Amino acid sequence: MASSIWSWLALAFAALLLPAGGAVLWLLRQRSGLRRQVASLAQDVEGLNDRLWTLADSEERYRSLIEAQGDLIVRRDGVRIVYANRAYAALFGAGEQDLVGSEMLLPQLASRPLVLLEGGARSFDECLATYEGERWISWVETAVPGPDGRTLIQRVGRDISARIAGEDALVEARAKAEAANEAKSRFLATVSHEFRTPLNGILGMADLLTDTGPDAEQATYVAALRTSGEALLALVDDILDFAKVEAGKLELVAEPFDMVLLVETVAELMAPRAQAKGIELAAHIAPDLPARFVGDRDRLRQILLNLVGNAVKFTEAGGVGLSLTRAGDRLEITVADTGPGIPADRLETIFGEFEQLDHGAAVGQAGTGLGLAIVRRLARLMGGEVHAESRLGEGATFRVSLPLVAAFDAPEPRIPHWRQHHVLLVSPAPFAARFLAETIRTTGATVSIAGTVEAARAKLDAQSSITAVLVDHALGDAPAKELAEAAAAAGIRDCLILLSPQARRQFGSPREAGFSGFLIKPVRTRSLYERLGNELQPGRSAAGGPGALAATRVRQPGTGLTVLVAEDNEINALLATRTLERFGCTAIWARDGREALRRVEASFAGAAPPLALALLDVRMPVMTGLDCARAIRSLEKRLGRAATLPLVAVTANVSAADRAAAFAAGMDDCLAKPLEREALLRWLERLSRGSAGSLTA
Ligand code: ADP
Repeated sequence: MASSIWSWLALAFAALLLPAGGAVLWLLRQRSGLRRQVASLAQDVEGLNDRLWTLADSEERYRSLIEAQGDLIVRRDGVRIVYANRAYAALFGAGEQDLVGSEMLLPQLASRPLVLLEGGARSFDECLATYEGERWISWVETAVPGPDGRTLIQRVGRDISARIAGEDALVEARAKAEAANEAKSRFLATVSHEFRTPLNGILGMADLLTDTGPDAEQATYVAALRTSGEALLALVDDILDFAKVEAGKLELVAEPFDMVLLVETVAELMAPRAQAKGIELAAHIAPDLPARFVGDRDRLRQILLNLVGNAVKFTEAGGVGLSLTRAGDRLEITVADTGPGIPADRLETIFGEFEQLDHGAAVGQAGTGLGLAIVRRLARLMGGEVHAESRLGEGATFRVSLPLVAAFDAPEPRIPHWRQHHVLLVSPAPFAARFLAETIRTTGATVSIAGTVEAARAKLDAQSSITAVLVDHALGDAPAKELAEAAAAAGIRDCLILLSPQARRQFGSPREAGFSGFLIKPVRTRSLYERLGNELQPGRSAAGGPGALAATRVRQPGTGLTVLVAEDNEINALLATRTLERFGCTAIWARDGREALRRVEASFAGAAPPLALALLDVRMPVMTGLDCARAIRSLEKRLGRAATLPLVAVTANVSAADRAAAFAAGMDDCLAKPLEREALLRWLERLSRGSAGSLTA
């Protein structure tokens, strides 16, 4: 029995002990798990510490990077600063932490307009009164999220004080330069006016002297006087023009003009110089070019005169050719010569101001070295360009390319149809022969060119189809006549001789020499077409060439007209009154605007003869021409006069602004000094016909 109790106890003990052992085991297991977790947590903490350290390190690096940039950074929560970097705090002479939490602002002294950037950012510049003085800061302002979800305004700025100071200095320097340039052009305009006034006197007096019928020797002196005076005037004009283009003051006009007429005038103006040197001058206008253009005729004439003038000046043998052709929607002007040429490395530099080449003593005459500079500036002003090409020793070619603007009323070019014609052109001239041939070919005619009499004879013998012959007198007197005979013998009725104006005077009657007519060189397209088509209008060739000398008798359209001349310069006044008297007028001189006004009043009141015209110098003492014109117009209004007295402003400055001022003052026209005789004559002719109105010269 006792043994069973012990067994039971042992069992119960065992039953009790067994679960306790499990718990211990479990506990033991739990403890080691915890240990592992703690270890891993410690590892995590270490990792996190590492990462924190790395973050702090990179933040520090970024901070030092930002500070090194010198950018100013500030963040505000509304007006309160929540972050400021060292550079920003330095503006206040404070540390970063001193600013945080404050609402400090720097006084603004100036600002520039705000610019909106992409992404909602804004940029603006302001001048601030900082601890270190005035500073211009350029800011970029953006909205950034704050740590607690609120939106902060962040400004990042850069000190641009140095840049602004540079800009200010530039603006100041530019203003100074502009003022100096303006002063320069004002000075030049005044000086040129002062030059022009006495020159006007010299040239005009030379004209009057010519009219008094001087003997041959005196006439030579007067001609020399005129030539020198004109050269000086051209020089003054060159300098003034250059100054105007330089100062951006040159105004281009856009008016319809006759291109053929323009080119022909240029060629005719330059022809005497070319003839005097024994060189050829030829002009050619492609027949398909519109006859009328819209543009600034006077400035284009200046370009042509400069280029052709140079070509004639520098060419000693051979010739000069001016040709106008169409190249798409551009007008191409070519001025070619057989002169000394230009070295390749100077082809560009000669367009600079005061650039001149040394062509040696034999070649060239004095100039300003401004001509080509003006040409280039004018061409560019017109939207075009000019270039030079050359082979040294063989000549130079200047090409101007300009936008082509044909006048809307430009008539279709009238080109005759001469398909049945075969023209033999006999000329040793390199340019004229080529140009004439081109002009004739556009009619559909066949053209053969012969450079010598022998070649011409051979062609006459060989080609029975030849219907007309053009013989250049440059071949020589006898050879030309010989060819006329040969043409007649070949049964060719039309045989024209091409004569220079000088040769025309010496040649005698072309008909007697066996020619059917003549043409004056440089040959005008219109004349060529007219003369060659002569067989349709028989007898016209006997009437004289287009270049035949005009009658030298002085026209007197002013007979019976009284003209008032208001001019303070005695010589100019004498010149104007004498010129008017030569045109048949009675001239009355007034020394200034007030005297002129008194004379007009007297004439209106019937106390003096009625006036037909008043020429009013713009610049006069006591009362200017413009004030005088205004006074006359208001007097007319007061008196209720139906007809107004034609008033013409006379001025050395005839820019668009000057003209506008003259018209605004009530003038009817504006003439340039030296007084343009032709314009004056046109006025007198209109007045004598009683049709003066809104006449412009
Ligand atoms: P200028 O003729 O008054 O000297 P430009 O500006 O018109 O001044 O010309 C500048 C220079 O270019 C001339 O002095 C001359 O040396 C050179 N030049 C101009 N045109 C020609 C030409 N057709 N042939 C040779 N040289 C020329």
